[in-house]
Amino acid sequence: MGPKNLYLHTFGCQMNVYDSERIRQLLASRNYRLVEDPSEADLIFLNTCSVRAKPEQKVYSALGRFRALKKRKPNLIIGLGGCLAQQEGERFLQRFPYVDFLLGTKELGRINELLDDLDTLGKRGWAISLDGRIDPYASLPFLPSPSRATAFVTIMQGCDNFCSFCIVPFVRGREVSRPSPDILEEIRALAAQGVKEITLLGQNVNSYGNKAPDEISFTELLGGIQEIHGIERIRFTTSHPKDLSPELIRSFGRLSKLCEHIHLPLQSGSNRVLKRMNRGYSREEYLERVNELRKVCPQISITTDLIVGFPGEEEADFQSTLDVVEQVQFDDLFSFKYSDRPYIRAAEFQDKVPGEVSRRRLMELQARQRRITLKRNKIWEGREDEVLLEGRSKENPEENTGRTRTNHIVNFPGTDDAIGSLVRLRIERAFAHSLRGGRIV
Ligand code: SAM
Ligand code: SF4
Repeated sequence: MGPKNLYLHTFGCQMNVYDSERIRQLLASRNYRLVEDPSEADLIFLNTCSVRAKPEQKVYSALGRFRALKKRKPNLIIGLGGCLAQQEGERFLQRFPYVDFLLGTKELGRINELLDDLDTLGKRGWAISLDGRIDPYASLPFLPSPSRATAFVTIMQGCDNFCSFCIVPFVRGREVSRPSPDILEEIRALAAQGVKEITLLGQNVNSYGNKAPDEISFTELLGGIQEIHGIERIRFTTSHPKDLSPELIRSFGRLSKLCEHIHLPLQSGSNRVLKRMNRGYSREEYLERVNELRKVCPQISITTDLIVGFPGEEEADFQSTLDVVEQVQFDDLFSFKYSDRPYIRAAEFQDKVPGEVSRRRLMELQARQRRITLKRNKIWEGREDEVLLEGRSKENPEENTGRTRTNHIVNFPGTDDAIGSLVRLRIERAFAHSLRGGRIV
């Protein structure tokens, strides 16, 4: 049988990006190859996100477009995976009769089984159990993809924290760490393919291995990766402030490959709101962690996530968030308006903040941070730094793009260096979203 075309669209977080790569590999064994134009596809697979209402809406509008396509091309197969598939379950297939199969967050390995049923029996199917499969990656062959400079590696699934705004524990299940030998083997395979930078993924990487008595700790895992020949840089995300251990903080001064950047979601600067969010730390404890990190690693860049308009958030709470933002001087932040979700505890809170108040707070927070980011970026002007060349710049294909160890994007002239090389540059100009570098002559 000749090759078949796969259009794979990933919504949401880096974990979904990793899962999509695993799905692409599984489907390659079935002779599917990626295409960029959905109208050429034999199979459309949407790997979905439901963390807020907005990404969920994006999935529905994409489905609307693909429905029209399927009318013209009845043999087109449409499959849905990830958090929205998990959230909605079987009823999704009743609501959307043109969707052929559903794959839950822990059932990725069953995609070929569902496609077999469709091919041979014409049967639409779903695999959405969160229970049985402890390590959803254990059953998947790992076939590293051809040379890229960077790769994600998911080291744990699910979450046990139940922050009151968050759907993740309900759609990704309880926290389960992957066995460290599997992770190290995967990273060695990636290094052999030319990957130079690894980003370890988990909802709360700091608690890696805590539930498995024989497993190594997260810092020991970092130590193991440090020893892998060919890997030059290590990153991880996300760290939960309540579990950021002194040992992990010390790693930033100890492990030469660990990049000087941490994403440390704060969510709110108000103790009252943090408590209702069930975050497990206070604003003071958060600030203390930031101090400790900067003591061990003065050049570390710190980014965060913040939610505005959480139920019951008063003007004074929002001001406390702005205060922390000014105090910490984050390098950048991701900010969101609180969004009601199925299953979450905050959905039951009665004191919802009106939409226009949340919108105004979001704009104020973002304007404040834009100024801080630009100011922080300006610090780099005139300095020399090491950049990992990741590819050609999106805006200008005549130029290279890469990242510093502190996770700043740098665009710079030239296209002759190989992807994956480490280049020393002088930072000539800083902008709000990137830096401009020049060759050192
Ligand atoms: N595990 C990470 C942590 O503990 O910070 C975050 C994971 S969550 C998938 C990514 C971000 O989405 C969160 O940090 C939060 O800021 C945002 N988020 C999650 N649920 C939300 C909601 N209901 N409304 C608005 N933002 C939300
Ligand atoms: Fe969601 Fe909280 Fe778990 Fe992060 S730590 S995934 S915000 S429940």
